[in-house]
Formats: sequence, C-alpha cells, structure tokens
Amino acid sequence: MSDAGTSIGGARNPVAAGGSRLVIDGVVKQFGGHTALADVSLDVQPGEFMTLLGPSGSGKSTTLNLVSGFAQPDEGTVRIDGVDMASVPPRRRNVGMVFQNYALFPHLTIEANIAFPLRQRRVPRPEQARRVAEALGTVRLEGYGQRYPAQLSGGQQQRVALARAIVFRPGLLLMDEPLGALDRGLRESMQSEIRRIHREAGSTVLFVTHDQEEALALSDRIAVFHEGRIEQVGTGHELYLHPASTFVAGFLGEST
Ligand code: ADP
Ligand code: MG
Repeated sequence: MSDAGTSIGGARNPVAAGGSRLVIDGVVKQFGGHTALADVSLDVQPGEFMTLLGPSGSGKSTTLNLVSGFAQPDEGTVRIDGVDMASVPPRRRNVGMVFQNYALFPHLTIEANIAFPLRQRRVPRPEQARRVAEALGTVRLEGYGQRYPAQLSGGQQQRVALARAIVFRPGLLLMDEPLGALDRGLRESMQSEIRRIHREAGSTVLFVTHDQEEALALSDRIAVFHEGRIEQVGTGHELYLHPASTFVAGFLGEST
C-alpha cells in the first residue's frame, strides 16, 4: 500500500496521460427477465486506475463485457474517446483484456500467445517481434518466449496474459479478477507488478475485484457495485470517510 506511485487518497498518476477516456452512460442490461445492470453510469479519466468493487453477482463483469464489446447494452451508451461503441466490434476496439483464468492458447508458445493481438491487427512481422520482446521485458519474462503455457507457473501465466493485453498498447486495459486464482503472497507481488505496468504503459485501467483490500491498494478511484447499480464512486479515502450508504460502509468494512 506504500508504493510511491499509487494514489490511494489523491491525485492521478501524472505519467499515465496516454490512456483513453471511458464514459458509460445510463446502461441497462437484462438477461431473460433478470436485470443484471439496472442503470450504470461511470466516467473514467485518461490514465486513471478505476476499480469496480462489489459482491458476486452485482454486475461488475457484465459492465466490463459491455466495454469490451462481448455484450451490447439494452439501453444507454458506452463511449471510448468520444466514440459511441454501439457499432464497433470487439476486435476494432482499442481495448486489452485480462481474465482470471489467463485464457492462454495451450498449443502456442509464449511468444506466439503474446503476438496474437498483433497478428490480428496485421502488424508487420519485425514490429511484432520487437513489441513481443518489449512486452516480455515489461512483465519480466525475458527468456521464456519459446516455452509453452503449461511449462509456466500460475503467476507466470498471468504475466503472459498481461503482456498479451498490453502488447498492442491499448488505450484501455480491462482486468476481470485477474489475481483471483493466485495465492495471497503471489497476489500481493502481482499487485505491485500491475501498478508498475499501469505507470509504464499509461493505459486507463478498469479493474474488477470483490476484494476491498485489493481495490484500496491499487485504485485511483473505486466504483462500488450493488445489485446492478453503482452505489458510490470515490477514492478509497472518500469511501471510508464518507460512505454514501450502509451497504458501502458495510462492504468496505468487511475483510476477506
Ligand atoms: P459479477 O461480475 O459482479 O459477479 P455479473 O456481471 O457476472 O456479476 O452478473 C450480474 C448478474 O447477471 C448476475 O445475477 C448473473 O447471474 C447475471 N448474468 C451475467 N451474465 C449472464 C448471462 N450470460 N446469462 C444470464 N445471466 C447472466
Ligand atoms: Mg464477475
């Protein structure tokens, strides 16, 4: 919690100015008769580290899926850098993604896994090799490029997933409980890795967790989800000092 680059109660990271602005406005999403998102609005500033925090089933992943384009809102809009995403398919969005289960391709080498988004975007081969090497360096896995996912530990595989998400320098990085499968000690070291990568890459980050401590350790601001709505958005400090509801006060007070 004491890394000089984090800003638990305060200013945004000044280095991270290259990220996208994300504006979610009045989004509603239903599955069958069930309302997953009742009315969600959120304004995320360029370079900001925003965490969606809330209990299981509160709508965090659904929100992320609307931003990535895996799902479409029933009502409301998602705008990235001012562009309405309604008619922009996932592969054309400038968005990188990391999931809890890594989702690496088992039959591809680490290098080929990381190069995958570059191939999709038809980046020329020499540029691919250069960027893959750079991304491997960023996640501190130099020398692992020729191995296969199964030969790596869980923490190393998650670093590869991170490298694959940042290799095309997305303006927006989405992470859905990326550390959920790791044990406590490894999670803490990966938290500082994620902070460092956020500083270096300059992307805007939308990070999902149900772990209050993780949210407080990482975020510029936190959006607290409850039953398909955002109850409050603020710095960890603000949420602690001035919780907007008994739900926010209770949820932040719990420990996992
Ligand atoms: P969280 O990520 O906060 O745990 P989700 O966004 O995954 O919550 O889910 C919000 C609600 O929407 C839950 O009640 C969940 O069961 C429901 N839901 C999410 N995705 C689907 C889907 N594809 N089909 C049906 N219901 C879904
Ligand atoms: Mg989820």
